[in-house]
Amino acid sequence: MAAKKGFFIVLEGPDRSGKSTQADLLKEWFENRNKKVLMTREPGGTRLSEEIRKLLLNPKNFITALAELFLYEAARAQHTAEKILPALKRGEIVISDRFTMATVAYQGYGRKIGLEIIKKLNRIATCGLKPDLNIVFTMPDSEFDKRRRTRLGFIKETPDRIEKENNAFRRRVNTAYRKIALKEKNILKIDATGKIGEISSAIRNAIIKKMNPVRFRRTRWKSQI
Ligand code: ADP
Repeated sequence: MAAKKGFFIVLEGPDRSGKSTQADLLKEWFENRNKKVLMTREPGGTRLSEEIRKLLLNPKNFITALAELFLYEAARAQHTAEKILPALKRGEIVISDRFTMATVAYQGYGRKIGLEIIKKLNRIATCGLKPDLNIVFTMPDSEFDKRRRTRLGFIKETPDRIEKENNAFRRRVNTAYRKIALKEKNILKIDATGKIGEISSAIRNAIIKKMNPVRFRRTRWKSQI
């Protein structure tokens, strides 16, 4: 993989956990510091991947669990090669609403496909690219159900293929994010029920630490004496 100069931030979590709210705030924060930001999402981000997204979300399509997995990974392979890696190489900040962890949650825990298969396909599709900062939003099932009810009350259009999934599937996915957050290292765990301002400041602090590790270590060292 070509050397990269940029910084890759991924926001992961169930629907309506606040990912896009925080992504927008983060973009503004970086742009106020004269950084070039590329906002993107999965599935999607390129013309081909957005076409695949339409196939995946169209409630009229019957898609087997395995075909679904391959479609997500195909969209990801294109997205990584065509959009994310070139932007990182140019030195940009890339903020993606979802990436590899979503496939572990939805197709692994949700559809019950073996996690080893998913991790392997994730590695292949991304050429091993990992986020510099992986942010995971989690919430209790009660909050998840509440936000879903509020959303269904608002939307006029029909729910997409994933939104139409049964309660047991959605619960497995929501629980998956909590399990992953407990298991995985090198992630920033966010309680999605926190206040928007507090969450954004926790994210900014994590970024400052990651982007400026030397300066941060010095500050901590100073504060200890
Ligand atoms: P996602 O991108 O994860 O689907 P959104 O950012 O679109 O979630 O947020 C879903 C809804 O929840 C929006 O109406 C948003 O204003 C609201 N929201 C976002 N963050 C919070 C929060 N920390 N607490 C309460 N509501 C929130």
